[in-house]
Amino acid sequence: MTRRQAVVLSKIGGGYRVRTGGESIDAALRGRLKRGKSKQVLVGDVVTIHVQSDRAVTIEEVQPRRSVLKRRSPGRKHGVRNVAANVDQVVVVGAARHPDWDSHMMDRFTAVAAANDLSCIVVVNKCDLCDEAENLGSPYAQAGYPVVYTSVKREQGLGDLRRHLSGRTSLFTGPTGVGKSSLLNTLQPGLRLLTAAVSTKTRGGRHTTVSAEMHPFGGNGFVVDTPGLRDVGLWGVEPREVAAAFPEFAAFAGYCRFDDCRHVQEPQCAVAEAAERGLLAISRLDSYRRMLEEARDASRPWMSGRSK
Ligand code: GDP
Ligand code: ZN
Repeated sequence: MTRRQAVVLSKIGGGYRVRTGGESIDAALRGRLKRGKSKQVLVGDVVTIHVQSDRAVTIEEVQPRRSVLKRRSPGRKHGVRNVAANVDQVVVVGAARHPDWDSHMMDRFTAVAAANDLSCIVVVNKCDLCDEAENLGSPYAQAGYPVVYTSVKREQGLGDLRRHLSGRTSLFTGPTGVGKSSLLNTLQPGLRLLTAAVSTKTRGGRHTTVSAEMHPFGGNGFVVDTPGLRDVGLWGVEPREVAAAFPEFAAFAGYCRFDDCRHVQEPQCAVAEAAERGLLAISRLDSYRRMLEEARDASRPWMSGRSK
């Protein structure tokens, strides 16, 4: 009987698929772990497994987590669901064209990453279709995010992206059709992702809750695939979290006239002034204001007619 460390790749039936020593094997939960919700095993968890003499494998223990990615619906009672453990970064992908760059959507994705305390990189893909791709990425570079310009078609920027993924667990997100699967498949041919296929909405507008999956990626990294992946940008962010989700505002917010300035309509708002002077992107301030408004509506469950 041996004891080893493994990483949980997916939930299958009553058990788990785990990765250990370069191979993927099936494991069952040890009885003790099955009881008690606090010990719930998540995709991405580092676990201790026992390999018994008859090759039966059991998960004995869950190691402390570096992060937990949560899907949240503010205002709903049971609105929090754990999606994956130990995600290191969110990779937000947008296309320079086809579909058109949607800065508000991109800002939502980066904000959800920030609200989950996850670092984030921005990828501007399909640079072959646009000569001014740099302008699209610049608000994010200004905000302090690493920005990678890629073209799957011209094989541009792929080495740069690969370096950002190396040795980390990354969650790819972004609008449909921007080239997420193309990027991943080009970087690692043979990768089988489930993403787009399962992202369905039921009639009530709720999303199906199929759990996430992880794939070994580039030797020592992992890529997380969640069914509702492209909807990550719509996950809830609480009102008090919205400002923190725009990290570049902090440098100016201290100079607003009011300590509790929300940077909406207040006089002598240093954040608004910075946007006017081009020190931060107006599009980011607009996104912040829209998200703040939505978050406030959503966090008041007794109000009917949520905007989203
Ligand atoms: P996903 O929904 O984000 O996974 O997007 P896909 O990977 O399915 O790509 C959508 C479409 O864009 C496909 O037809 C791809 O061939 C195309 N595509 C992906 N990357 C590029 C690129 O860099 N340049 C161009 N011109 N097309 C691309
Ligand atoms: Zn302000």
